[in-house]
Amino acid sequence: NSKEKGRDRFSYFNPKLQQVIEQKADLTQKLRDAIENKEMVIHYQPQILYENNQHKIVSVEALVRWKDKEKGLLFPKKFISLADETNLIVPLGKLVFEKVLIQLKQWKEDSIKKDWKVSINISYKQFQEKFFYDFLKSQIEKYEIEPNKIKLELTENLLIKNTQETLDKIKELNDLGINLSIDDFGTGYSSLAYLKQLSINELKIDKSFIKELSNSLNDSIIVETILSIGNKFNLNVIAQGVETQEQYEKLISMGCKHFQGFLFKEPVSADLL
Ligand code: C2E
Ligand code: MG
Ligand code: MG
Repeated sequence: NSKEKGRDRFSYFNPKLQQVIEQKADLTQKLRDAIENKEMVIHYQPQILYENNQHKIVSVEALVRWKDKEKGLLFPKKFISLADETNLIVPLGKLVFEKVLIQLKQWKEDSIKKDWKVSINISYKQFQEKFFYDFLKSQIEKYEIEPNKIKLELTENLLIKNTQETLDKIKELNDLGINLSIDDFGTGYSSLAYLKQLSINELKIDKSFIKELSNSLNDSIIVETILSIGNKFNLNVIAQGVETQEQYEKLISMGCKHFQGFLFKEPVSADLL
């Protein structure tokens, strides 16, 4: 039986495989059209600073959603890896960036939101793109945004492939005044080397370390260690995926000051912030 299945899988005329390939091609085409027609919406999730016994929003993370006519709102899990695989992440990333800058420009008129920074997720392929830097720079000028209002969230895996070329690009962005944040910190191929080579502004503790924080000694040790690295390198450390009061209080007792998670607010469209 399993032999048969094995043979099946490698057959050129496997109708199931054929179907999977066709579905993927179909989704890719739909994604391409959606990007072209700008059918993406950005949701924003507050990032909170707790200081002097009070907390306030200091920034928001931009998270893309695909608003499909038939399927409704699709989350990144459904399309980001496909976008990465097909290079559609490049035009998608540009669309996200432009939408965020338009938002930032509107917030300039708001007495509270004018101080918010916006964090944008960037994947490896976007960084590899030749005109990435030029695009960011021209958009920032076009919408008259202060570069320090922008944070780029990079992953360790992006940084680990740090050819001199990547490092130079990151330095150029840094020199413009853009902030750099390391997303999902502690889950990638961690290398602390880039902390001395680059001017990173922020570490985001991955939510997997927060989830069991109340019961897991190991997670506590990891979180304390990341907070201590942040402290010594003078970086902000954000705890991601904070869902319960218990987690929040434990994090505060550990000296954590920056938080993001459903306990405070889920990602929402800009008008619901
Ligand atoms: P991420 O950058 O790690 O973003 C955090 C994810 O955790 C978001 O999922 C957010 O909705 C979710 N989250 C926030 N608070 C909580 C919480 O308290 N508990 C739990 N369980 N989850 C929480 P989302 O929006 O589905 O995004 C998933 C991933 O897709 C992001 O992970 C990011 O890697 C990627 N992504 C999203 N937008 C973009 C984009 O514009 N460009 C690129 N390249 N990637 C993006
Ligand atoms: Mg992120
Ligand atoms: Mg994450």
